[in-house]
Amino acid sequence: MALLCLNVRAEDKVKKTVYVQNAFIIDMLSDKAPQKGNVLIEDGRIKEIQFKDDASFPENAEVIDATGKYLMPGLTDAHVHVTTGKYESFDARKKYSEELLKKMLMGGITTVRDVGGHGELLKVLKEESSMQQIHSPSIYYSAFFAGPSYYKEMGTTEFSPCTQSVDSSTNVEEAMTKAKAAGATGVKLYASIEINLLHKLAKEAKKQGLGVWGHATVMPAKPIDAVNAGMEVMSHAEMLKWEQCPSLSTNMFDNYDKYYGKFKFDFPELDVLFAKMKEKNIILDATCYHGTVNGLKEAAIFTKKAHEMGVKVSAGTDYLGDQKLPYIHDELETLVKECDFTEYEALRSATIIAAETFKKQNDIGTIEEGKRADMLLLNSNPLEKISNTKDIHIIIKEGVVYKK
Ligand SMILES: [Zn+2]
Repeated sequence: MALLCLNVRAEDKVKKTVYVQNAFIIDMLSDKAPQKGNVLIEDGRIKEIQFKDDASFPENAEVIDATGKYLMPGLTDAHVHVTTGKYESFDARKKYSEELLKKMLMGGITTVRDVGGHGELLKVLKEESSMQQIHSPSIYYSAFFAGPSYYKEMGTTEFSPCTQSVDSSTNVEEAMTKAKAAGATGVKLYASIEINLLHKLAKEAKKQGLGVWGHATVMPAKPIDAVNAGMEVMSHAEMLKWEQCPSLSTNMFDNYDKYYGKFKFDFPELDVLFAKMKEKNIILDATCYHGTVNGLKEAAIFTKKAHEMGVKVSAGTDYLGDQKLPYIHDELETLVKECDFTEYEALRSATIIAAETFKKQNDIGTIEEGKRADMLLLNSNPLEKISNTKDIHIIIKEGVVYKK
């Protein structure tokens, strides 16, 4: 058996023909009880799914006996920052990122959406991951946009295609072309961007095939303004509280002075907002665990309500630091325990809906023939208990098998 462990030889990192035999398959296409079946993987893709007793597979296949185990799609963390932190050199930063990515992969995460980091490094890591040169989830990342006043407050002036300063004089078409050429999948519209410019940026991003991502509030835009401007994925549920303010200033600190501590967690504008988000198929990247551990209980309150009203919620962690396993499992538990998601609904948030945040729902997120072979083989059923996502036996990423 050529199962890979943490320290592997480079020649082992090849996409083999793999046959997962006799697993309970949680395909994530419906919440029906998982059926027993076999999955054939070739060239990193799911070639065939068999729901029958007589197993048939090519002679060269590596057979994994999955009797009594549960096969589900690999998890996607839809909100990470894998390159941030203070590092003296590009290489030191790269080393840190690679360790983090390996940890994520071994914790069951086969894809990440990075929403703000070192663009140049993310490009390298994305390429190396897709070539199987590093042990890493597949990576999709953003180019970051903010107004000049944001950078002034932060004391930074060095701009790159993945970190751009934008104002009314910006050539929006050129800005997006640069972001795209830098390998970004989406743009993160972050702060200090006037509402009419937000509209222009979102429109051009979509025209060039880039996703439009951002925080739920991009001051001075309130959540509803971001929705109307064309935002497609809105991060941090707790930021939805700004919707109840009559108006917001471009300066974040002014808004905090004026409104902080006076927020209600149930207000009529929220219903209007969620109805609109549902209508426009906008995904709430709730980062619910991150919010609640930081004392922002409204993160769970708003996420629960959004879910009840039919808004799609993706699972993301806003990765905080080291821990034995990635935080995605905590996010899933928070969705179930604090926000009334069923186990199946929580798993959707970390698979097919998370994939939709970067428009890869046709490629990953379910177990279907033709899809990328990103899967987890679990020892116990996550539909019975959500924390069973931690009970990992094997991780398969693009057909490469990693044993825990
Ligand atoms: Zn973040």
